[in-house]
Amino acid sequence: MKQNKAERREKYEDKSMKTNIFTVQIADQIDKVFDTITKCDDFVGFELLSNPSKMPEKAFNIPADKCKAGSNMVGLEDHICHECYALPDKDEDGKFLSNRGGRYKLDVVQNSLNNRFNFATMNPYFVAVMSYKITKQIKKKFRWFDSGDIQSELMLDNICKVARNTPHIKHWLPTKEWKLVERYITSGHKIPGNLCIRLSALKKNGKPPTKLARKLGLVTSTVVTPDVYDKLSFKCPSSQQKNQCVDCEACWSNKVKDVPYKYHR
Ligand code: SF4
Repeated sequence: MKQNKAERREKYEDKSMKTNIFTVQIADQIDKVFDTITKCDDFVGFELLSNPSKMPEKAFNIPADKCKAGSNMVGLEDHICHECYALPDKDEDGKFLSNRGGRYKLDVVQNSLNNRFNFATMNPYFVAVMSYKITKQIKKKFRWFDSGDIQSELMLDNICKVARNTPHIKHWLPTKEWKLVERYITSGHKIPGNLCIRLSALKKNGKPPTKLARKLGLVTSTVVTPDVYDKLSFKCPSSQQKNQCVDCEACWSNKVKDVPYKYHR
């Protein structure tokens, strides 16, 4: 059902307020040394990394219903968030209304996503733990947010710290939080060279925020319908390789200024 602008704004503000009540963002991160990955995982109490089937290695995710910019767009039919693959379509009683959300509907998946969200926003060891796990469990490439998005400048700052602590790893962070990233960078913060932040276009066949990305020294991504996709020379090849990245590293490279993904529904 289409929402008018006032309804969307009201829903967004209500959701932001609710999130702020229980989201305590810890400013000071605490160093911690782990001997083994088992001890690190025991300390956390659950698996902190996700395992998206498309990706060559593990990733990190949080619930899509925590997306701030995204929650303002999910009611807009021409926006990519409207058909978010990670956001189950539920009514107020929790009843599923459509197939949207796929395996993200499972309780076990939602529990993991919520645990990761709580750890990232409330645990002062987030940077230490993520840095250790990535060092031990990732060989080359790490993706942030196969579900969800940056919650705050503090979270982005923590991600930058993790990237600096793991200089041998390429990090990719796709985001629709353009304004948040802009505030972070224009207030003087630096993005580490091994962290590729892609500002994502908001609509199918929509233009990417190229000007803003260039100003901030970032890159972009887009979602295009098959007719547009077929005419492009460079595009995400995953749809031709069983929905896998295989050897492609385009999303992790700051040299690739825009990555177009094929829209499929
Ligand atoms: S462009 Fe390459 S790296 Fe990016 S999602 Fe597609 S296959 Fe994976």
